[in-house]
Amino acid sequence: MMAGVYVHIPFCASRCSYCDFFSTLCLADAGRPYVDAVIAEAGMRRRELRGEPILTLYLGGGTPSQLPLPLLSRLVAGLRAALDLDGVVEFTVEANPDDVVPEWCAAVNSLGVNRVSMGVQSFENSILRAIGRRHNAAQVNEAVAHLRQAGISNISIDLIYGLPGQTVDSWVQTVARAIALEPRHVSAYGLTYEEGTRLWRQRERGEVVEVPEDECLEMYRILVERLHAAGFEHYEISNFALPGYRSRHNSSYWDETPYLGLGAAAHSYDGTVRRYNPSDLQGYIDKVTAGEQACETEALTRRERYDERVMLGLRTSRGVDAVRLREDFGDRAWQHFTREAQRHIDAGNVRIVDNARYVLTPNGIMLSDGIIRDLMSDDQ
Ligand code: SF4
Repeated sequence: MMAGVYVHIPFCASRCSYCDFFSTLCLADAGRPYVDAVIAEAGMRRRELRGEPILTLYLGGGTPSQLPLPLLSRLVAGLRAALDLDGVVEFTVEANPDDVVPEWCAAVNSLGVNRVSMGVQSFENSILRAIGRRHNAAQVNEAVAHLRQAGISNISIDLIYGLPGQTVDSWVQTVARAIALEPRHVSAYGLTYEEGTRLWRQRERGEVVEVPEDECLEMYRILVERLHAAGFEHYEISNFALPGYRSRHNSSYWDETPYLGLGAAAHSYDGTVRRYNPSDLQGYIDKVTAGEQACETEALTRRERYDERVMLGLRTSRGVDAVRLREDFGDRAWQHFTREAQRHIDAGNVRIVDNARYVLTPNGIMLSDGIIRDLMSDDQ
């Protein structure tokens, strides 16, 4: 077994229009107490990992690259003192391209970071501006060059398709520019309009027009095709990696490996129980500083665990292992799953590999939402 540690850094320099992640603009005031609270929480909760070796460490956000370097060093040193991180093989930090300057690259390299995940989103400056991103396309190229000069070559980039103003043609250019950067890993998500975001309000007022669904699907199809041609393995619906560069940390979310999530809004899973920290910066700091647990616990019902297994499994190229499904959830669940899956096998959307693993075919990936819904629980 193995385990991962996630640390949420809920600070951003400005707010992107589509974003509903938990993040705030109060780094200057809350940065130091927050980092100290995270370190204290690591000490309080390390037992949840039950002695499993920690193989991955992931600083996500928010914008971790906004942390001033002394605070980042303090955080990493504190985590090292609280947790046994000697066995970590993948240490990822998320970054905004305009923060990735030579000094930052050298500093994170010396802290042991060996993977950087950059929020690129698009290579069209007009779109980047419209959605409130701080960087421009040229800065992405510079950031990648700086990282490589500092010895960090394991670079992942995030893209978003279906952004207002994007066309299929402009998306083709974005994908080409992404591939030309030679990242090791690409994550690409379809834009969603989340209630409460600026983008949502802009749509209400008619200021932005949604990209039609068939164009979004076409963008996704192009993404899959181009990345495949460039040698990337499509190992999860939204994730692509060159051989040997799948994100070990993210894979642990999909294969039910335990992970400890520290910081406001972070989630954890210890193999049976999920825990959620509050999306409340001051509330989190106050609780942890007082020596209390900030997290709420949720024991998943059997049905929820079945649904998770099916949903997370089908999103990955590993698929759902029907033998394990039967062992863990019984005959009725297994019958439901295999019966529903058969329809999709007949339609060419699902196939069985290694005798028992049900995986989506390329065609099925395009229809994944509906198929996953069908295979999730009905009444068992
Ligand atoms: S940088 Fe990331 S977390 Fe921060 S507002 Fe933008 S999308 Fe949200």
